[in-house]
Amino acid sequence: MIAEVPFNDLKRVADAQSAELRGIFDGIRASGWFVQGPHHTRFERSLAHYLGIEFVLGLGSGTDALELALRCVATPSRNTVITVANAGGYATCAAVSAGLSVRYCDVDPETHTMSAESLAPLLDDGVAAVVVTHLYGRLGDVRGVNALCAPRAIPVIEDCAQSLGARNSDGMGGTLADIATFSFYPTKNLGALGDGGAIATRHAHVHERLRSLRQYGWRDAKYRVVDEGGRNSRLDELQAAILDLRLGLLDDGNRRRREIVATYRSAASSVVAVLPADDESHVAHLAVVVAPDAAALQRHLAEAGVQTQVHFPVPDTGQPAWARFASGPLPVTESLVGRILSLPCFPELSAQEIDQVCRGLASFQEPAP
Ligand SMILES: *Cc1c(COP(=O)(O)O)cnc(C)c1O
Repeated sequence: MIAEVPFNDLKRVADAQSAELRGIFDGIRASGWFVQGPHHTRFERSLAHYLGIEFVLGLGSGTDALELALRCVATPSRNTVITVANAGGYATCAAVSAGLSVRYCDVDPETHTMSAESLAPLLDDGVAAVVVTHLYGRLGDVRGVNALCAPRAIPVIEDCAQSLGARNSDGMGGTLADIATFSFYPTKNLGALGDGGAIATRHAHVHERLRSLRQYGWRDAKYRVVDEGGRNSRLDELQAAILDLRLGLLDDGNRRRREIVATYRSAASSVVAVLPADDESHVAHLAVVVAPDAAALQRHLAEAGVQTQVHFPVPDTGQPAWARFASGPLPVTESLVGRILSLPCFPELSAQEIDQVCRGLASFQEPAP
């Protein structure tokens, strides 16, 4: 009986950091300062410095970041959000929480990220924002989306929950559009020991408004509510300190993830294709395979002792809660249903485990019809 290769194992890095984590906990416990203290301020500065952007705000989660970003830019006449339907539904969830409606754009068949060509006919004066999700860790076509949105003054939001650290010739992901959102959910490339999120922007007025919205709408002073639509969304001191520690390890981890994807790619049989993560525009958050029958591949890998998952099994347009937003056909998005499968991909995988995944990929044959 071979040992199973886990899809993810968050305990490995937590164990390796146990002394530092204990030190962080003891320091914060002893300080008696648990939210919006020095660690929070330091992490906001560290992340701003890492990204090379002026303003970063710590928040409670990536979904909060999306919701507050949308609240910040929407107006009564601009109340529709355009996003893709294959990225887990986070932008839709946030738009609904912000009281907005959603319109879906198809994705590019090679990259699975927003297709600027499909976006063009969807834009009108009712659009509050376009959310580009850097899916699987790969930067989407922000340049193409900006070119379409700028003439109409439509804000563009980058969802960087899966892509922190990715950069291309235009710059760092998270600095390429008007607002960027981040998640530090434990499985993300930069993960906390709980929930966390952030927003980055270079616009001072956006920063000021979001700073108010994350804390009840308070401006200038405590208990003075100026901005409507505020709420409580904070990143606590413990998570901020842990994230500050782990941010220093992010680039190494991302490099390791890309190596793992490259190894899978060269091992895969001719029947399946592992999506590439060849350069720094991709941080390999997920190693995704495209196969004619992903369920058959999943069964085969399970027999080879490899855990897999699907990101994501149901497009937003197929979700019962959001049926009202489904409108035109999304041929590429729909064609990917049942054809994608995510492999184990995290920096702490052992060489032996990677090899086990490779052997599973190499031995897969198309099931007889
Ligand atoms: C994880 C994720 C989110 C949501 O982040 P939470 O912190 O879990 O709320 C948003 N968008 C994408 C693309 C994600 O992968």
